[in-house]
Parts: sequence; structure tokens; C-alpha cells
Amino acid sequence: NDNNSPVKEYLYRSKLPDIDIPYHLPLHTYCFENVEQVKEKPCLIEGSSGKIYTYGDVELISRKAASGLSKMGIGKGDVVMLLLHNCPEFAFVFLGTSISGGVVTTANPFYTPADISKQLRASNARIVVTHAAYVEKLTDFLPHLKVLTVDNPPEGCSHISELLQGDEEKCPAVEIHPDDAVALPYSSGTTGLPKGVILTHKSLLSSVAQQVDGLNPNLYLHSEDVVLCVLPLFHIYSLNSVLLCSLRAGAAILLMHKFEIATLLHLIHTYKVTVAAVVPPIVLAIAKNPMIDHHDLTSIRIVLSGAAPLGKELELALTTRIPRAVFGQGYGMTEAGPVLSMCLGFAKEPFPTKSGSCGTVVRNAQMKIIDPETGESLPYNKPGEICIRGPQIMKGYLNDPEATARTIDKDGWLHTGDIGYIDEGEEVFIVDRVKELIKYKGFQVPPAELESILITHPSIADAAVVPQKNEAAGEVPVAFVVRSNGFDLTEDEIKQFVAKQVVFYKRLHKVYFVHAIPKSPAGKILRKDLRAKLEAPVED
Ligand code: ATP
Ligand code: MG
Repeated sequence: NDNNSPVKEYLYRSKLPDIDIPYHLPLHTYCFENVEQVKEKPCLIEGSSGKIYTYGDVELISRKAASGLSKMGIGKGDVVMLLLHNCPEFAFVFLGTSISGGVVTTANPFYTPADISKQLRASNARIVVTHAAYVEKLTDFLPHLKVLTVDNPPEGCSHISELLQGDEEKCPAVEIHPDDAVALPYSSGTTGLPKGVILTHKSLLSSVAQQVDGLNPNLYLHSEDVVLCVLPLFHIYSLNSVLLCSLRAGAAILLMHKFEIATLLHLIHTYKVTVAAVVPPIVLAIAKNPMIDHHDLTSIRIVLSGAAPLGKELELALTTRIPRAVFGQGYGMTEAGPVLSMCLGFAKEPFPTKSGSCGTVVRNAQMKIIDPETGESLPYNKPGEICIRGPQIMKGYLNDPEATARTIDKDGWLHTGDIGYIDEGEEVFIVDRVKELIKYKGFQVPPAELESILITHPSIADAAVVPQKNEAAGEVPVAFVVRSNGFDLTEDEIKQFVAKQVVFYKRLHKVYFVHAIPKSPAGKILRKDLRAKLEAPVED
């Protein structure tokens, strides 16, 4: 409190004490630190085939991969692209690259060839590991790239076994510094173009430690757990909170190639899944699907939702379906390493939590909420921009020092662009993104709030809200609605339904009926696509 800064700083911390984080370790060493105790236990379970790799297998194959990679010329700082759906090879090559001192960049196999080219060029990747079906997306690069496939390789490509059969004794001894990059995930591209994010050994290791380490871990995972891995590993949520956290804790990871409700329910039952990491569209599918009553989901003790807003009503619908599980949210952002806050109901000695909250800031980090106008930090219950500081945040954006400087300030605070507040219980509540708030006259309307109301309607299967330009008001909220099968709900009924539950300026001005809401693989509503739809000339 020096005299030059009389303004009080409101800083928020975890309720858990700080821990010693072993920053000096490389990520793979850290993840396998306790491997001796779980060597014979299942590590990766391939849902489609039932094939199981033990911890001993995974550790060995990863070293083989490292040896294979270094033989192919991958050394310190060299980039390998994983263009994969969830499969064991994702883990092998990720860990192998880490051992060899390289960097993994992950991409969505459904991206267009143009998107992939861009990422290949920006990241300067030298090897791509993918499925044969996606090789044609790499055609332009084939002469300059080594392409490996996890299934039958097309011409010009090699099979992954070439890499995984390396001699683990010839595993390279690379000196790795905590500030060396290990992963180059891309942000989801929800608000603009996806941004390449540099995560170091220190950032990822810190983020994992903040979740699963300590006497009372925030997210308590153990070697008897079976953790559902249905969310795509190319997204940082699944890569970090599912794969890396489970490895560190010695839990089994059940890999699903893609989300399909019947298979999911079947696998949960077969493998007695104990921890389910999900996103709101999966919660929606589970909460609204009658099939669920015929499946035994009582093995689940934790349901973690993240990546996108989830309303209280949907949370309630889910908890009545899986009553024995603790339900909670995590809040992540690729640039934040990615986890900012996590439900303390998941701790080994849990804390009571409130519905609708996104958890409490992780340990060994600080959070503040700032007034977007003045930059002043705010007390409890005042919404503003969420900022975080800690060892887990990114080193910066790839090839973009200006964007990095706009996002991480000189004091080390990462500015998230999300609006939220913290209540007296230290819990974080997200309102919406700064960029997505609808400005009706002088008032702010968070689309997420209206969406969570809309989907509580029994005849609404899904919904999204975006601004529409309006001469009198500047912007007005309008909704895209998917009706449940066989219901002929009208626009007026929907408007009335919302109007009864909100203040006047949040009322819907128009409802468009559609067949589906566009969403990213991590379950985010692509409001930018819907906004573009409004601006395009009317079709029907
Ligand atoms: P881009 O930055 O490319 O536009 P993106 O922000 O969606 O895309 P990610 O890094 O995958 O890319 O997502 C981070 C964002 O997801 C956060 O900034 C926040 O808006 C949202 N988010 C994450 N978890 C939650 C949650 N539990 N509740 C509400 N929103 C969440
Ligand atoms: Mg973002």
C-alpha cells in the first residue's frame, strides 16, 4: 500500500493453500513421475476396440516414439502436427514429442485444407500424424512433409509403426528448459480466427499441478478412476484436464473417437466410468434424452462441464439424471494454460459450491475482475473483465507479439475478454464474453442468459441468441430456435416465455426457427455464423 497507488486492489485466490510445483521437470517426466506405482494398471482404453494399454506400455511406447521422432529429425523446438481424432497414438506421439524436445500442434481433422495449410505454415510443422482419410487435405504440402497415418497409409505416407517401433534405448537425451514450448494448441475460433498459443513445459505442468496435485487436490483423481475422454484431444480442455491430469494421477483414460449418445452410454456402463468431462451440448443430450433411463450411470462420481456457458436449469436437469455424481464446472481458455477456475466440489475434501458457478480460481494463481473502462479491480459481486496471473499462462501467441502484448499486460495479467464476477464464497460466475454482449440502447444483454432460459422450454431442443442491428435501439436480441420433434411452438409463445422471466430490455425481438445450432467441436455456439446469417440476404 504505497502512497502512489491509493486505489485498493481486489485480488482473489483459491481456498486451497499454494503447493510446491516442480517447475524444473519436463512435462513428460512430471506426468510419469509416479508411473512405477501404476505400471500394471490400465492407462489408455480404446473404446471402439476394447484394447487396453497399461501405464507401463504407454511409458515405453512414448520413449520408442521419441526415439523414432529423433531419427526422423525432430529435435529441440521442432513441430509435429497431430491431425487426429481421439486414439492412443495421440498420446504416444504427444509424449514422444515432449521427450524429444519438440512441440506438438494440434488441429481438428474436420478443418478445411485451407485452415490446415495455414496452421502448418504458421507452426512450421515437419511431421503430421493423421488418419488416411485426411491425407488429401495435405496434398499441397506432401512433397515437403513427412506424413504418418495411424491406419493404412496412402501412397507417399508411412505407417505410424515406423515411429512407434523406435529403439527406446536410443531415446535422445535433450536438455529441456521450463520455458521451452511443448504444445501449440489453437484457440477455438469462436470470435474470430483461431490463434496459435504457445504453452511451455512450465505452463502445462503448472496447470495440471493446480488441478490434481497437493494433499487436497482441487480435482481429485486417483488410480482407480476411469476418466471419460470423449472431448477431442486436439482441444486444450481434453488434452490438459483429461489426458495430462489423468496421466499424472494414474487414472485410466477411456478414449472415444467421437461423441455418439448410445455408444457413450454403453461405454460408461461397460467400463464403469467414474469421471465424465463434458461440454454443454453433451449435458443437453444427456438431460433431454429419454434413452438415459435405460442405462446405469451410477458409477459416475464427478461430472465436469467446461468450455462454454451452462445454465442452472440444464445443470439441474442433469443432476436429477445422475443424482449420485458431484456436478461442477471448470473455466478454461487456451491462453490461460488453460484452466482458470475449477469447482471445489471435486476436491478430495470438497467445499460446498453453488449451482451456476464456474468454480474457484486455481491454487498458485491470482484472479482479479476489472472495470473494462477504468481498469480498476472490483470487489465481490461486481461484474467486470476476468484477469488471471500465474505460472500456467501462455508464453504468448504464435508469431504475434502485438496480440500477446494486448492480452498479457506488463504486470503479467492475462486479460480474458470474459465478463464475470466473484461472489463472497470465492466462486466465479461468468456472464458472457465482452465481444458477445448485446447492446440494447444503453443496456447490456448477455446472450448466454437468454439461451439458458430458452432451452428450459420442454418443446425447445436447442437455442442461440445473437444481436440484430436495429435503428432505434442499436442492437436487439434475436433467437435461433430448434424445436423438439413434433412440436409446433410459435414465435409469439417463445417471446412470451422469455418475457415473463427477464427485465424488459432483455426481451427477444425475433425468433428464427432452424434445424440445428452451429457449434464448435468443443461445444461452443458459433454465434458469429448466426450473425453472418442475419446479415446475408434472406433465403426462405
Ligand atoms: P477464440 O479465442 O479463437 O475466439 P475461444 O475463446 O472459444 O475462441 P477457447 O480458448 O477454446 O477459444 O475458449 C475459451 C473461452 O471459452 C473462454 O474465454 C470463455 O469465453 C469460454 N468458456 C470456457 N469455459 C467456460 C465456462 N465454464 N462457462 C462459460 N464460458 C466458458
Ligand atoms: Mg478466446
